Amino acid sequence: MEFSREKLKKTAEEAFAVGKDHVSLGHVAEYIPELAKADPNAFGMYLLDGEGFSLGLGDHEKRFSIQSISKVIILAASLMLRGFDGTFSHVMMEPSGDSFNSILKLDTRSNLPFNPMINAGAIQTVSLLADSMSFEDLLELSRRLCLDPEIILDEAVYHSESETGDRNRAIVYLLKSKGVLMSDPEKTIDIYFKMCSLSVNAKSLASLGLIISNNGIDPFSGKRLIAADHVRVLRSLMFTCGMYDYSGKFGVRVGVPAKSGVGGGLVCAPRGPMGVGLYGPALDAFGNSKGAVKAMEHLSRTLRLHAFDY
Ligand code: GLN
Repeated sequence: MEFSREKLKKTAEEAFAVGKDHVSLGHVAEYIPELAKADPNAFGMYLLDGEGFSLGLGDHEKRFSIQSISKVIILAASLMLRGFDGTFSHVMMEPSGDSFNSILKLDTRSNLPFNPMINAGAIQTVSLLADSMSFEDLLELSRRLCLDPEIILDEAVYHSESETGDRNRAIVYLLKSKGVLMSDPEKTIDIYFKMCSLSVNAKSLASLGLIISNNGIDPFSGKRLIAADHVRVLRSLMFTCGMYDYSGKFGVRVGVPAKSGVGGGLVCAPRGPMGVGLYGPALDAFGNSKGAVKAMEHLSRTLRLHAFDY
């Protein structure tokens, strides 16, 4: 890294303060009733560099549901199980430009979902796994990739999602009606809901980011957890599609592979290696954490973390 640890710590503290300042401009997700109970003022951040630097700020220990960030783990699992061609013959790799839960282009422009980072694409990707991997297998993989054996299923969030997930059910049945879904729709959507309901904290996300930033190797144990070729795919799709219909702006302003979730989480995997995990349940209009996006803008600009800062 081209900056000292002191600079990293100071910049992270500034970024945290900038993010925290913006939290009041966001709103917690309400379409999943359990998420509406989150404290809109909560804000936390965790940074890791794999060489002993770690920094937790604010509500970094607070557990929350991973939501769409699980789409990164689902894609990693599919690449491991089915390989590149076996995955991308069933889901595309194009930014959709639509909101995360959109159904629009699914019926009018294409038979396959646009990418694995939006609901339709992640649901389709789960269908590639559902006959070979159980939810428990995916939970185990999530614990491994987040270096966090304490990840559990948040039952309250899971039931809340499942009871109100009509739009996601519409997506899974639309995929079935088009003949592209690769497993049973109820089995598929149940695993999808459960994967969204994993409880993580900012440190679990920072660890996931660090492993992705470190080409798939856990820097602490030296073990390879994800193949380097697969990490390149994850980073590319996180960069182009990880922030839903804000991905373009985030790519220009922040320029690091990232994935957000409506639980308020954000994982970033800048060069370094470095992993950043953020939590701020007050969201912007795109469903991204308001404070987390602002904090990352500051961190990236000040430390020149943008992928295209040559
Ligand atoms: N569980 C959420 C949903 O399916 C995940 C979406 C998100 O985090 N953006 O609506």
